[in-house]
Amino acid sequence: MNLELSEEQTAARRLAKDFVDREVAPHVIEWDRAEEVDRSIVKKLGEVGFLGLTLDEEYGGSGGDHLAYCLVTEELGRGDSSVRGIVSVSLGLVAKSIASWGSEEQQRQWLPGLTSGAYVGCFGLTEPGAGSDAGHLSTKAVRDGDDYVINGTKMFITNGTWADVVLLFARSTDAPGHRGISAFLVPTDTPGLSRRTIHGKLGLRGQATAELVFEDVRVPATVMMAPEGKGFAVAMSALAKGRMSVAAGCVGIAQAALDAAVTYATEREQFGRTIAHHQLVQELISDMAVDVDAARLLTWRVADLIDRGLPFATESSKAKLFASEAAVRAANNALQVFGGYGYIDEYPAGKLLRDARVMTLYEGTSQIQKLVIGRALTGVSAF
Ligand code: FAD
Repeated sequence: MNLELSEEQTAARRLAKDFVDREVAPHVIEWDRAEEVDRSIVKKLGEVGFLGLTLDEEYGGSGGDHLAYCLVTEELGRGDSSVRGIVSVSLGLVAKSIASWGSEEQQRQWLPGLTSGAYVGCFGLTEPGAGSDAGHLSTKAVRDGDDYVINGTKMFITNGTWADVVLLFARSTDAPGHRGISAFLVPTDTPGLSRRTIHGKLGLRGQATAELVFEDVRVPATVMMAPEGKGFAVAMSALAKGRMSVAAGCVGIAQAALDAAVTYATEREQFGRTIAHHQLVQELISDMAVDVDAARLLTWRVADLIDRGLPFATESSKAKLFASEAAVRAANNALQVFGGYGYIDEYPAGKLLRDARVMTLYEGTSQIQKLVIGRALTGVSAF
């Protein structure tokens, strides 16, 4: 892999860095305390093209390769993981799935709005009774003439209360394929669909995470995306790329933690000199630096494989597993460097740690990533 960035990639990174410094960084504490990111950020993300990265220009995409997408995602993760998550889900899981699996009509209906930021998308897979074992979801879509009638509950849905469309995974009665799961693009203003914001999250407090309840939600059969019974394949292909996006966000968290720790260590004095002079503080910092580099290289390798059209799913799981655990370690080390000040939210380390923690849980927990990697190596499924 060529580790030298192209001009386009460098420009994308610079644009993202400037965007984060101008539009995100000044509001991070306020949004975290208010438990809500200012929604106007979505339109701004669309205006700079971040919601259309890697997609064709035909439906509003802004092009770019997956490495550029990683670089932008890293920067957003450095700024605020709640903002990064808006892009990773609305673009990464929803718009990209529509671009790969949707009909021309579905692409025309949703992609221009999702890439411009006029619409927000959410990804409805997890249920109260089906998390890691998503294949056993129980939301049902029952065919009734030219319609489907949907009943069920989705849990922990990122962007859930903001979304205009949910990419919903449900068991459709007569589906012949994998476990009978199909994908549907359900407008969130459809009668019978109600949403409840989930409050009290440890991290990602600014993000609109919701429970979605479907009670006799009637949709035309044309909202089904991809052939009936292919829903699980749609979900798994979205998550394979999504894990790279989470990993890139984690690189951003770890980088932010490292930057903050280095700055603080070279300013804060104890025992008559800056704490950077103490060897055990340098150990905390050097461990973070190695984690940042290793996480970044694993993540870039995934982007490179995708851009070259090669298999990447196992590498994506490795990157997500390592980068999420590395982000937790790095943020925790940063908090240690800040001492007591790390424990209050006027300083960045605490929020970075709270935000990092969920990265080891969603889009497949660390245990699930290990099972994915183990299955690829041994040929034995231990699920
Ligand atoms: P469980 O599956 O019940 O797992 C509990 C524990 O058991 C974990 O430690 C797990 O690793 C372990 N475990 C389970 N099975 C095995 C096994 N076979 N071997 C070893 N260990 C195992 N979902 C969406 O669909 N869309 C979203 O946008 C979305 N956003 C989220 C945002 C947030 C803030 C959060 C917290 C979650 C989000 N999720 C979303 C859900 C997330 O993907 C699930 O929480 C995750 O998949 C784990 O499922 P669970 O919480 O039900 O835990």
